[in-house]
Amino acid sequence: MVVSKIIVIGAGATGSFITHDLASRGFDVTVIEKGNIIGGTSGKFHGMLHSGARYAMNDIKAAQESILDNKIISEIAPFCIENTGGLFVALNEEDLSFQSKFEEGCKKSNIPIEKLSIESALKEEPFLNPSLKAAYKVPDKTINSFRFITSLLLTAKRESAKVLLNTEVLGFIKEGNNIKGVKIKNNNTKEVSELKADLVVNASGAWASKLIAEKIGIKSIEMILSAGTMAVINRRFTKHIINRLREPSDGDIVVPFFNDSIIGTTAFIVDDPEKFEVDKEDISFLQKAGSEMIPVLANHPVYRYYAGVRPLIAVGESDDSRKASRDFKIFDHSATDNINGIISIVGGKLSTARIMAKDIGDFIGNKMNNTAESKTDKIKLYWPQINSENIDEMSKSLSLSKDFLSEIINESAGKTYSDMYSNAMDLLYSRRLFE
Ligand SMILES: Cc1cc2nc3c(=O)[nH]c(=O)nc-3n(C[C@H](O)[C@H](O)[C@H](O)COP(=O)(O)OP(=O)(O)OC[C@H]3O[C@@H](n4cnc5c(N)ncnc54)[C@H](O)[C@@H]3O)c2cc1C
Repeated sequence: MVVSKIIVIGAGATGSFITHDLASRGFDVTVIEKGNIIGGTSGKFHGMLHSGARYAMNDIKAAQESILDNKIISEIAPFCIENTGGLFVALNEEDLSFQSKFEEGCKKSNIPIEKLSIESALKEEPFLNPSLKAAYKVPDKTINSFRFITSLLLTAKRESAKVLLNTEVLGFIKEGNNIKGVKIKNNNTKEVSELKADLVVNASGAWASKLIAEKIGIKSIEMILSAGTMAVINRRFTKHIINRLREPSDGDIVVPFFNDSIIGTTAFIVDDPEKFEVDKEDISFLQKAGSEMIPVLANHPVYRYYAGVRPLIAVGESDDSRKASRDFKIFDHSATDNINGIISIVGGKLSTARIMAKDIGDFIGNKMNNTAESKTDKIKLYWPQINSENIDEMSKSLSLSKDFLSEIINESAGKTYSDMYSNAMDLLYSRRLFE
């Protein structure tokens, strides 16, 4: 049997999971990432493995997919999850008016929720605002994307995939209407070369539309690049993720991550995922909004902030990115643009990367006569014990520095996110506000 060669562009959560899914179905896969591990949005997000409750009021599909993958990812990759649980809290009459819509949406999406008495909510979370009006428990968790993506790539490598980090796709090899591979540059050595393939999968997140529009004139992907800022306080005050009970809006989540509290987020449209400024007023807005739920947050300085860009699909005329769907879409460019040999996947969330990978894997399987089914709901992701004997080999195999890899693998309790990942802070474009 001839094994089809596939190139995946982008090793964020989406591209890394696709690489694992395709490699486990027997395809010959190479993933190409211009940056390092989590150089894109997957390193600049809120850190939630969503239960789906956040979407239950207005995006049932996203809610149902989230709860499904919440369970599966916790089973296949327990080493990157903290089972914090989540609380949705109502602080005023307006929040309370969302109760029945929230309960109905969670029921429709099969998200198990529990209404707590005010007394037991405050007993579980003593730092919550004592004038709380209602609280619901939901199965939100946190996910460490450094570990998640490293383990996806290590698992894919064991399935014979090739992983090229610090390697940029500069353009495409095009013969008539057919894409035959990509032109790449190794960003370390500056060497430029070509890589041939039967199919190229564009999983480059917020870069997806621009990359193929500029290089091969494909204009069928319309995206909304919705940036969001997060403000970090280096103290943790809750066990649970605290969500405001209302439709998704600015400043409605506080995520306990390691020993930090990450307050998020905002939504503003940008043109370029690498060139945009964070409005400093958003930082104080976030602190104020977070302290409505957890008043003590107002007494601690924000010592770091960062921002990421949601790669959302544009649907209809609205440019309100809060209302844009968290759904994902596969674009077969032979159908939409009459260009063969390339497909794109856009949208979704980190929490649903597995479902996105399965769907595009099924699509590619049909297209390329590979009848293997996705097994990614069962395959436990590989997570090595790193020691002085294998660290050299492991760091070479992923082109990551030994220091960085040790930080990812040997994390320890009681640290803040920034303490843990000092080598990654540049990657996250995070800025220290107070030294
Ligand atoms: C503020 C904010 C908060 C969020 N919070 C959450 C949350 O709590 N939970 C959740 O599930 N989701 C959350 N999301 C959404 C989630 O982070 C994204 O949907 C997800 O990370 C996107 O992953 P991706 O792989 O598609 O994109 P990315 O992670 O951006 O990966 C794309 C990769 O492609 C690479 N690339 C681009 N161009 C090229 C090229 N020419 N050659 C080679 N490589 C290239 C980039 O370097 C990048 O690494 C949040 C998003 C934002 C912005």
